[in-house]
Amino acid sequence: MKYCEKCGNQLLDEAVMCPKCGHTIVKIISPQEQKQNSKQLTLSILSILGGIAIIVAAILIAIAQYNYY
Ligand SMILES: [Zn+2]
Repeated sequence: MKYCEKCGNQLLDEAVMCPKCGHTIVKIISPQEQKQNSKQLTLSILSILGGIAIIVAAILIAIAQYNYY
């Protein structure tokens, strides 16, 4: 159980807003979660870069074949 830092109203753990005063509860991200998020971000960037590399390679192969003929 947590409490509103503005009015002290008791809140549910998953509450994102105080129902009494409307104060927005900022979720504190733990360092572990932050690490996990950055890892996921790195993975998504890597997959995007991989996709771009494949497209670039395909274009280069197409150009090479075009020049060959
Ligand atoms: Zn409140």
